[in-house]
Amino acid sequence: MKETESSRTMDGKQAGMAKTVAIIGAGASGLTAIKCCLDEGLQPTCFERSEDIGGLWRFQEYDIDGQASIYRSLTINTSKEMMSYSDFPIPADYPNYMHHSKVMEYFRMYAKHFHLLERIRFKACVCQIRKRPDFSVSGQWEVVTEMNGKRESAIFDAIMVCTGHHVYPYFPLESFPGVKKFKGKIMHSREYKHPEVFRDQKILVIGLGNSGADISVDLSHVAKQIFLSTRTGTWVVNRVSDDGYPLDVVHFTRFKTLLRQILPVALVNLWGEKKLNTRFNHENYGIKPQHRFLSRYPIAADDLPNAIISGRVLMKPNVNEFTEKGVIFEDGCREENIDVVIFATGYSFAFPFIDESVISVGNNQVPLYKFVFPPHLERSTLAIIGLLQPLGAIMPIAELQSRWATRVFKGLIKLPSADMMMDDVVKKTKKNEKWYAPSQHISLQVQYVDHMDELACLSGVKPKLLNLFLTDPKLALKVFFGPCSPVQFRLHGPGKWEGARDAILTQKERIVKATKTRAVQGCTGAHAMSVPCVLIKVLGCAAIFALLLAFL
Ligand code: NAP
Repeated sequence: MKETESSRTMDGKQAGMAKTVAIIGAGASGLTAIKCCLDEGLQPTCFERSEDIGGLWRFQEYDIDGQASIYRSLTINTSKEMMSYSDFPIPADYPNYMHHSKVMEYFRMYAKHFHLLERIRFKACVCQIRKRPDFSVSGQWEVVTEMNGKRESAIFDAIMVCTGHHVYPYFPLESFPGVKKFKGKIMHSREYKHPEVFRDQKILVIGLGNSGADISVDLSHVAKQIFLSTRTGTWVVNRVSDDGYPLDVVHFTRFKTLLRQILPVALVNLWGEKKLNTRFNHENYGIKPQHRFLSRYPIAADDLPNAIISGRVLMKPNVNEFTEKGVIFEDGCREENIDVVIFATGYSFAFPFIDESVISVGNNQVPLYKFVFPPHLERSTLAIIGLLQPLGAIMPIAELQSRWATRVFKGLIKLPSADMMMDDVVKKTKKNEKWYAPSQHISLQVQYVDHMDELACLSGVKPKLLNLFLTDPKLALKVFFGPCSPVQFRLHGPGKWEGARDAILTQKERIVKATKTRAVQGCTGAHAMSVPCVLIKVLGCAAIFALLLAFL
């Protein structure tokens, strides 16, 4: 690569030339970042260190240093309507919760449809990005890459970092006394691929996150015994929710978000805990957490209670110390002859190619305005995409971040002053620390609907509910009571998509088509609603309408 023509002028551009953007990573965030750049008339070049797209979602038989790694059975825990990119719905016959291979199929369709592959340089590892000497004027960056052992550098007007946060394993061996004398195998969950190699073994899994629960259940079909150790316990939700609809479709609505915001926290906690305990009593299953329902994200572990009730998985407290052949738990119980210990203790994140003066990560925290822009940079030409932990799907959030960032790069949206951005960061961190129980990701946590709306406001694409109720009440009802799916953010404003209305009105058909693969006589269909349900919706609607009139 040579310095491009476009990099030679002081403002980064010769008249009429589009700004160049370097995108690092071609996973779920990188793909949509390329698309958003193209939509805004920017010139993206994506650098991907592997030979394919998909990032985390591309299954590989072995874990590779510097790349995310998943297991063969992984099925996503956000549903297709809620995880799709906003102007590219997932086909109706795709399952509501997709296996990673289906997620990859969807990414390939997206990349093909929007001609994204042409913009990606595969096997190109970004080694370093550094500000140009005239950065305070041009906002430009030098990007150093390595491809086939050859180093090259090029100048870009802006950078989008889309490298994810599930690459570097968090492996807290030092917190476990005696771990060095343990003679069995110790591994991190990122090395786990499939259960067969663990047949008839006694396995201890440490950490009750989504990985710990999934891997325990997966292994429990072939292993002699699984012990699953948790320090804190957790609330467990099921992917299949009311009437068999996907959990996020049922609960991530504007109506329920409003209820959550106005009802007392204690009441919402009681409601949530009662609902989850109705399926299985968390205390009797040894899973009951110390924290309340809203204080930490639940895990989606549909089969964990089945594995516990059939004795294949035994829940255990934290490990106090390791022995040569086993462990002693905090309650004094000892388990010997353990063959393998799997640390399902999650991930840390890092940006080894960015200088600390640009972004410094400390304690798994990094100060970013709206989780995207480093506040103190002289020019807002660096965006971090997808570095957050939503209760909900990350792909649409990465897409909205990219829509916003690309318009900031173009100068169409101005960011507040560095001080104001930093105030916002501090306020958010404090709010999270107050609201959530301590965890590795506390500073990255966001609520899906609230955060999508916040980003949408910044880009001018938040649905105008009052207008909708007056002009298109049928659609307004779906937008308010139905799933707050990404397509809602294509109804108006920059990037408006003509297919958005229809995609919202046909959401339930797409959901049901994937499960109703056998026609059933006498079935009332996807739109069946009980009389009380209709009544509640009508009353709710009237109340909201009155509220909107009062406030606007
Ligand atoms: P995680 O969510 O960070 O959970 C790691 C768990 O390890 C913690 O909840 C904690 O559990 C335990 N832990 C952490 N530090 C520990 C320590 N020092 N000692 C003992 N235990 C410790 O990590 P993850 O489960 O790998 O998930 C990573 C991300 O991938 C999450 O966003 C998750 O939602 C996602 N994921 C999704 C799927 C899916 O879609 N199906 C599957 C897997 C992962 P305790 O407090 O219980 O001890």
